[in-house]
Amino acid sequence: MSIYLGIDIGASTVKLGLFDSDKGVIGDRLDNPSRASQGPDATINVIKTAAQDIFKTNNINPQDLKGIGACCPTPIDPSGMCVYPTNIDHSWQGVNVKQKLSDSFNLPALLLNDGDAAAYREHTVREAQNQASNSMAQFITGTGLGGALIINGQVISAPGVAAELGHILTDTSDNADLCGCGATGCVETRASLLGLRNMVKHRQAKGNVPEQLQGDPMEVAKILRELGQADDPLQDVTDIWHEYFTNLGRAARTVLNIVGCDLIVISGGAQERRNNASDHSYERFKTDAIGWIRHEIDHSFPHLKNTRVEWSIDTLPDSAAYGAAQYASIMLA
Ligand SMILES: [Zn+2]
Repeated sequence: MSIYLGIDIGASTVKLGLFDSDKGVIGDRLDNPSRASQGPDATINVIKTAAQDIFKTNNINPQDLKGIGACCPTPIDPSGMCVYPTNIDHSWQGVNVKQKLSDSFNLPALLLNDGDAAAYREHTVREAQNQASNSMAQFITGTGLGGALIINGQVISAPGVAAELGHILTDTSDNADLCGCGATGCVETRASLLGLRNMVKHRQAKGNVPEQLQGDPMEVAKILRELGQADDPLQDVTDIWHEYFTNLGRAARTVLNIVGCDLIVISGGAQERRNNASDHSYERFKTDAIGWIRHEIDHSFPHLKNTRVEWSIDTLPDSAAYGAAQYASIMLA
């Protein structure tokens, strides 16, 4: 038995899962409040206690554990340090979380960005279904826009912070918005929840928006997926999603021209189905989105038409914890 502990550290929740390199996932995932706002040591204490619980529930002897695969919602450098506290408390900046985990468990550990961990899981699920690629780029839509590159079965992260695909420039218009990274016009300022908020804000500033798009821009942004998956969406709503996926397509084209990937995967919030969406309207939403991305890719070099652009097939909410554990089982073995 080669058992690895997977840990997905989030701002509010920490998720633990066990992975056996021969048998796959063991038992159920365990979720706990992460206490991340109290600093990394508070979260490490939560993890230590939760690990004992998950070992006990699954009759695992802690001495059988071979290593730790963890992920954080921040850019990570090759040493395992959280470089910028983008989606977690500021007290995590500059902390070597990999070292802390390794010291706490007295085991080898590995730390990934959470988008990289989820993308690695996607890669392995695709491998099992013969739908993988040697060179895959993944965009993870959420509050921001994460990115990952999996080339020849490896997460591309060295020599420094890498594959931050959300920060590719796609908007050079007068309306371009400031991004959390400090630059203006990054794809994240359009293709993310923050991007939806920005596009609502611009439309409201021009006036004449339909009733459903009035009010606090962030609150409107949160219902746009639901409005977009309605049977007969408003034109303004369709236009916003068109702009969202057009920007994603521009970023994807840039990645293709640099890396030459043959598979682009889109995952995360934009993929979720709203409650009560009909099969037809959900499929239309997803088909339109891929079409808008394709439009940006297909109007470039002819060979780019061969690139597959697909939604994620691994939609498990626990994918990052298992992706990190699975990657640890390869890299730490
Ligand atoms: Zn940026």
